[in-house]
Amino acid sequence: MRDRILELERSSRLLEPNSDAREKVRRRVVDYSEDFLDHVESLPAYNVTEDKGIGLLDAPIGEEGIGIDDAIRLISENVDTPGLNPASGGHLAYIPGGGIYYSALGDYLADVFNRYAGIFYASPGAVRMENMLIRWIGGLLGYPEDAAGNLTTSGSLANLIAVVTARDALAIRSADIPRSVIYLSGQVHHSVDKAIRVAGLSECIVRKLPLDDRFRIIPEALAAQVTADVAEGLKPFLIVATAGTTDVGAIDPLGEIGEIARRFGAWYHIDAAYGGFFVLTEEGKRKLKGIETSDSLVIDPHKGLFLPYGLGVVIVKRAAALRECYRFNANYMQDAMSETDELSPAELSPELTKHFRGLRLWLPLKLLGVAPFRACLEEKLMLAKYFHREVQTIGFESRLEPELSVVTYRRVPQAGDVNEFNKKLLEAVVADGRVFISSTLLNGEFTLRLACLAFRTHLSTIDTLLAVLKEKSELLESDPSFRDRN
Ligand SMILES: *Cc1c(COP(=O)(O)O)cnc(C)c1O
Repeated sequence: MRDRILELERSSRLLEPNSDAREKVRRRVVDYSEDFLDHVESLPAYNVTEDKGIGLLDAPIGEEGIGIDDAIRLISENVDTPGLNPASGGHLAYIPGGGIYYSALGDYLADVFNRYAGIFYASPGAVRMENMLIRWIGGLLGYPEDAAGNLTTSGSLANLIAVVTARDALAIRSADIPRSVIYLSGQVHHSVDKAIRVAGLSECIVRKLPLDDRFRIIPEALAAQVTADVAEGLKPFLIVATAGTTDVGAIDPLGEIGEIARRFGAWYHIDAAYGGFFVLTEEGKRKLKGIETSDSLVIDPHKGLFLPYGLGVVIVKRAAALRECYRFNANYMQDAMSETDELSPAELSPELTKHFRGLRLWLPLKLLGVAPFRACLEEKLMLAKYFHREVQTIGFESRLEPELSVVTYRRVPQAGDVNEFNKKLLEAVVADGRVFISSTLLNGEFTLRLACLAFRTHLSTIDTLLAVLKEKSELLESDPSFRDRN
């Protein structure tokens, strides 16, 4: 038996490369990523490829390992080439993410040391760090010191945690569901719809609220609807507002909605996944006023603080509500759960074992300070205003003043179908690859969108977008095959 164990040990020790082996692999990984970072400005924002990374399937997972050169070749060809390049400043679609470098180093340290960030007893420092970050973010948004929250993987998960907390805080049991009312804007992010379904609340009455001409909830209409619902014996349960809608960047009247929620005893959730961190700017702070009246909110550092994907935040004003929702009991954890001055992520979310996500946020904030983040956000607000002005000078409509950093626009061609034209224009811009844009439907109209939030997007990027739009739209307008077909 001992011989067999020792034989297994020889093989299992391959899991622990020695310092030479580490050095060799690390050097290749660093070279590869450095080469990327040195050239990211000139790489396409979107790569249309035939194969879409299918070559990966020719290298199945096997008993024997491969060399780092082969591994990097597989990643480079199949993963880092086809499709969207979210690290590019030319990513101007959806809501761009980031990828600031010091976060990668934070992740590296988190992975090497593998501190157990789920429970205070296991890693008091990691838990303190995460809670400190949550308090910092809560403080920015006007939440009290004793609010509680969780660093999640994403805004979608954060919305789910908040909706489930609302359900339990208002004691919505199955029998209450058919008479409980949820109030949503038509602009609400689809992750909220999903959260409602996943939380078992899809049989609540869902009121899709009328919006004003800037796609914001109309407080008077909301108040009238809630009043009518109460008169009918229904229970106003959950009101969701958005601070920066994904579609157009609209900010609902946050304070006024908060007043209505308070008056009727409904839970008030604000989804600030996209817009929340604009609070770091003067303009954003003014526009997000009232956000502090919510019971829970969601904000995404992997959007507004330019982090690589994998970090959303949920904060609940009344810590006990979050704690009550995610409480647990387990005999095998009895040593780990003494009273402490810090709540553990495991008590405040569905997760137990988790990635130590705090470090990827803490390290860049500490190394750089907040000032460059603030500047980058203000730059994005100004770039949106600049684009909104300039795009109109090259023959596009852009009816909505940008509220934050999303701008909607479309071109009305001399002849032919407007929707079809803008669709073709979008395809031409994406195929060109210098910048990547997306579209939406506004009141049934196919509309192009600029979403400016990548930290590598600067004035020159927006000028490139304007040049590409001008070039492609003129080509398309003079293309007889387009005109004749439409
Ligand atoms: C992006 C976004 C979400 C979803 O966040 P993920 O981090 O992508 O899961 C939710 N709400 C709004 C308003 C968003 O912009």
